[in-house]
Amino acid sequence: MRSCACMAALRQARMDFTSHMTLALEQAHAAAQRGEVPVGAVVTDPQGRVVAAEGNRTRELSDPTAHAEILAIRSACAALGSERLPGYHLWVTLEPCPMCAAAISAARIATLYYGAGDPRMGGVAHGARVFDHPQCHHRPIVYDGIAAAPSRDLLQHFFKARR
Ligand SMILES: [Zn+2]
Repeated sequence: MRSCACMAALRQARMDFTSHMTLALEQAHAAAQRGEVPVGAVVTDPQGRVVAAEGNRTRELSDPTAHAEILAIRSACAALGSERLPGYHLWVTLEPCPMCAAAISAARIATLYYGAGDPRMGGVAHGARVFDHPQCHHRPIVYDGIAAAPSRDLLQHFFKARR
């Protein structure tokens, strides 16, 4: 294959790509260490800069809505001073649940990258399929299966250890 500027841009994009999911995985690890279900989420701005990185804190905050995605969106919105994040991207280690998918839509997130699919709780490719619903007014571009194996391994080890 010939080398050109596009290839360099693609390589750079792939590096960014990997690094953001790596950070999301680090947040998931940190959540596991706090005794939380290991899910991590990162929000990047239209320039690709990380503006929020969070892990699950439902137990710590006694808050069933304190999923990694919700916390990351809240943090990014607060930093921007806006209820919407147009052109922003969300990276999460696990398929978002219906609540988080609705929040992603409401925040006008441009692109959703997620790791492992979640047949039990997921709301994007499973169950409610929030973005496919006629009432969904904003659908992000969705890329699934990004770093799916390490995301799934984290969850499996976490639940195995607690059994
Ligand atoms: Zn959720």
